[in-house]
Amino acid sequence: MANRQNALQQAPEFTHAAPMATILPSNTAMPMACDACDQDNTYSIGFLRRLPKLTCKHCGDHRQFSPIELTIIENTLKNMGYFLTKSA
Ligand SMILES: [Zn+2]
Repeated sequence: MANRQNALQQAPEFTHAAPMATILPSNTAMPMACDACDQDNTYSIGFLRRLPKLTCKHCGDHRQFSPIELTIIENTLKNMGYFLTKSA
């Protein structure tokens, strides 16, 4: 969990906080660290919204993306002043 949050905070797209609410399109790329090998994989928010099975492109590890993780990502972005478009 900590790894994924670190990856989110270090993402170049999100290094500066938006001065006002910024709408992110659902195809915005979201880096996520793999639990097994710790390498980043990039997924679009629209893809993650469908709560998919994630397969690591580095080591082939796969797992289910959970609604809790989606909530964490959305809350983190919201705290940084980003809002996600509701259409996936
Ligand atoms: Zn991996």
